[in-house]
Amino acid sequence: MPLTSTRFRLINLKNLIILLAFFVAFITLANGFFANYQVQRNQLLKHTLETNHAYTQKLAAATNNFIEAALQQLAYTAKIVEKNLDNQSLLTAEAERLHQQTSSFNSVAIVNKEGIALAASPNTLGILGGKLVSAGVLETLAAKKPLVSTPYLSTVGNLLVLISSPIFDASGNYLGYVGGTIYLKEKSILNDLLGKHFHRDGSYIYVVDQNKQIIYHPNPKRVGSYIENNEAINSVIKNISGSAQVTNSLGVEMLAGFSPITTTNWGVVAQRPVTATLSSLDDLMKRVVYRTLPLALFTFFIIWLLANYISRPLRQLATTAKEMDSPSAHSNLAKVESWYFESKELKQAMLKGLGLLNTQISQLKEDAATDPLTGVFNRRSLQLLLKQLEQKGIPFSVLAVDIDHFKKVNDTFGHAAGDKALIELTKMMRQISREEDLVARTGGEEFLLILPNTTTSSAQAIAERLRKLVAQTQIDPVGSIQVSIGIATLSAKGGSSDEVLNQADEALYQAKRLGRNRCEVYTP
Ligand code: GH3
Ligand code: MG
Ligand code: MG
Repeated sequence: MPLTSTRFRLINLKNLIILLAFFVAFITLANGFFANYQVQRNQLLKHTLETNHAYTQKLAAATNNFIEAALQQLAYTAKIVEKNLDNQSLLTAEAERLHQQTSSFNSVAIVNKEGIALAASPNTLGILGGKLVSAGVLETLAAKKPLVSTPYLSTVGNLLVLISSPIFDASGNYLGYVGGTIYLKEKSILNDLLGKHFHRDGSYIYVVDQNKQIIYHPNPKRVGSYIENNEAINSVIKNISGSAQVTNSLGVEMLAGFSPITTTNWGVVAQRPVTATLSSLDDLMKRVVYRTLPLALFTFFIIWLLANYISRPLRQLATTAKEMDSPSAHSNLAKVESWYFESKELKQAMLKGLGLLNTQISQLKEDAATDPLTGVFNRRSLQLLLKQLEQKGIPFSVLAVDIDHFKKVNDTFGHAAGDKALIELTKMMRQISREEDLVARTGGEEFLLILPNTTTSSAQAIAERLRKLVAQTQIDPVGSIQVSIGIATLSAKGGSSDEVLNQADEALYQAKRLGRNRCEVYTP
């Protein structure tokens, strides 16, 4: 099968270099980008966890302060009323003052040890004089000490906590308590304190009591419900402060900071969705890409340039190699800028090879054009040379030279001696001719001497000189030989070289006939 039909278009060196460089550049860029992303991501997550934790610490401190202040206010009133539990107007005034003045509580009540409300504000509660039996009241009466109750449902269905200070008489007998309530599901001081934390990015805070019951949440519907299986909650009710990545009740991944509120054994949690936290990172990464892009493109351009520069010498060498037989092969090869080792070596080797090839070709040409015995032109190359003279319109004369009785020479002295005589004859023909004259061997012992720009009479003189020289020259071991010469001329007027050769042959025949060892000019 011929090569051409199965030849594939192979990938070239330039594209290979570009591919390799692009691959390396891409891997490097992608790796840098990914590493950058990971570092930034971890940084962001860590930062958010820390921020949320710090924020809950602040909130816990603020809530502690509030509870302590509230307990102090209640203790102050308890002190005032301890000797005046039968003074209804004073009790009412104190309850009223505490409620109105401090705005810490949703309601205030002074309750005796049987659980009877002696005074209450606001008055609309309708509890005055009645026995209170709600869980918070019972817990408070049983505690007989300053207390923040467990969240409980009031008789009218409010979820609340009761903050209270006990009342003792002078001899330390328990008389009851002064209590303020905070409604967990309605507007309260707690809501004011905690509700300020509001972000549009989905972060929020909430508060649980020690039973994992939610006592504050931005979504009021969740207040009163319990949270299980939450690492942050489990930690914070054990009085641990810190941060953790958790999953909220809706299955959303959250970054939670948490701190305990020590006065009440509550825990406050601030959390932000992971996705909201990382959304800024996506923006950042886009900006990184935009910033990287110009330099990356510039780098790719440089890669392309370099790939061209590196591959060019080899490409040029390859192109030249395809056309080694073209006459311009050498000059094309010389022009290749081989600026690095391998290309330089290749170029040198190709130049050397090409030189060798040219020498061999010219040797072959010479071999084909000349007679191996005598080194003069053979019949074929002579005909070509004559055609050239003819085409250029150069007139010439022809001497047809034939050795007389050469057979005898061979017979007498042997073939080798005959050969020597042939060689000596060509030497003599060269000797009497000029640079531009052509000597050729056209047969066994037949020669032609072509004399460009030579008239018949000049040719005749030269022929005569040659005849005499041959006859006088001693050739060892043959002795002297003799030649007959026929002369014909192709004048500037025209005619073909073949014709002139025939005419010279005819004249030679004439010379032989007229006795040999003589020169004859062709006459029509
Ligand atoms: P004439 O004077 O008529 O030319 O006689 P001749 O013997 O020279 O002519 P003929 O053409 O009959 O013989 C030519 C001889 O030349 C025949 C052959 O022996 C000899 N010859 C031809 N080629 C060579 C050659 O290459 N080497 C040698 N040594 N002899 C050759
Ligand atoms: Mg002959
Ligand atoms: Mg002869």
